[in-house]
Amino acid sequence: MNFNVDVLIIGAGAAGLMCAIESGKRGKSVLVVDHSNKIGEKIRISGGGRCNFTNLNTSHKNFLSQNINFSISALNQYTQFDFIDLIKKYNINYHEKTLGQLFCNEKSQLIIDMLLSECDKAKVVIKKNFTVDKVEKRNTNYYVFSDNDTYTTKSLVIATGGLSIPKIGATDFGYSLAKQFNINVIDTSPALVPLTFTDEILDMCNQLSGLSFNARISHRNVSFEEGMLFTHRGLSGPSILQISSYWRKGDNISINFLPHHNFDEIISQKRQKKSKQNIINILSDFLPKRFVSIFCSKYKYSKNISELSKHSIDSIHNNIKKWMIEPKGTEGYRTAEVTRGGVNTDELSSKTMMSKKHTGLFFIGEVVDVTGHLGGYNFQWAWSSGYVAGQHT
Ligand SMILES: Cc1cc2nc3c(=O)[nH]c(=O)nc-3n(C[C@H](O)[C@H](O)[C@H](O)COP(=O)(O)OP(=O)(O)OC[C@H]3O[C@@H](n4cnc5c(N)ncnc54)[C@H](O)[C@@H]3O)c2cc1C
Repeated sequence: MNFNVDVLIIGAGAAGLMCAIESGKRGKSVLVVDHSNKIGEKIRISGGGRCNFTNLNTSHKNFLSQNINFSISALNQYTQFDFIDLIKKYNINYHEKTLGQLFCNEKSQLIIDMLLSECDKAKVVIKKNFTVDKVEKRNTNYYVFSDNDTYTTKSLVIATGGLSIPKIGATDFGYSLAKQFNINVIDTSPALVPLTFTDEILDMCNQLSGLSFNARISHRNVSFEEGMLFTHRGLSGPSILQISSYWRKGDNISINFLPHHNFDEIISQKRQKKSKQNIINILSDFLPKRFVSIFCSKYKYSKNISELSKHSIDSIHNNIKKWMIEPKGTEGYRTAEVTRGGVNTDELSSKTMMSKKHTGLFFIGEVVDVTGHLGGYNFQWAWSSGYVAGQHT
């Protein structure tokens, strides 16, 4: 059978549904297709089931991209406050957890239900279990082939997301389609992902597995100070996830375990008072005992402070304030929250999300080379980019 629609959106995730709603509101006939049998799975599992749906402090500075200014237009056209208004309209209760991060008080499914209700109002048709066999462009029309059916449209929107969590439906469809249309794709890699280690560091992580505390993690000139968690595979927790988006294989990261204390001052005060305290006890006033004991035994720091040489104090200072370690890798797409890289923003109009080479072809959401920090920014990008495309389909 042959079908004709004004707008065909591939991918019924956050970005695809938002685009569908906006296109539908403008009176367009809209079809959203997804190969999965569930709609908005990533929304459902996000934020530990409570969906961190946006961030009060969203700005383009919270995103990584080859063009860091690309997201400005979309984020201004549809802001975090626009999405909050929508949430309020549906009486979805939410709270700020930390650092401007807004979470649902109840389950994330409420957000999916809200989007589906908006789709319904806008007369959007959604088809699940839909396999796209092939996409072709003939003149100004796009043809999507599935089983024995052909769908024709003037506006084809690619909203198939990134590569993280393949078991809930992530595929490389968007990137392959971009390449088919001669659209450049920036190399992709897992981001917001735990870092893995080998040898001594892994041993230490294993011994401390389950322990978490605040630390400042840096990579080159970028730093994040949030929780850090030791695991059986290495390091995780918000500050590690954040820095993982910047880390490249072969690079070191640096950890400041005492970001708010002047270590030299602590030591000199103790010395002035002629303290005979052991360095382990001194550090345990500021850091979890379990960590201090394992960290100090690794570096053989066990002496009474009055006996420590200048060299030893410098070494403790360096390791506590600037512990340099080289991750072996990341846990990969299996656990990554997002994909760094994607459709090169040079190929798209930042005002419309339409391809500069192909009129009527749009890329939105995570498939684009715009990757948010942890904290609701990735959904805000999905809402904003989806909204913008929805005004121009
Ligand atoms: C565990 C986890 C927790 C997260 N928590 C948060 C959070 O709290 N806050 C936040 O801001 N971000 C969070 N994120 C990131 C956020 O979920 C994504 O950035 C966001 O969902 C991207 O939206 P999208 O619409 O671009 O892609 P997606 O939501 O991934 O949607 C893509 C859709 O395309 C479909 N699809 C893929 N391939 C095909 C194909 N070949 N044919 C047809 N359909 C296809 C998929 O089935 C899917 O429905 C989290 C991610 C994960 C994995």
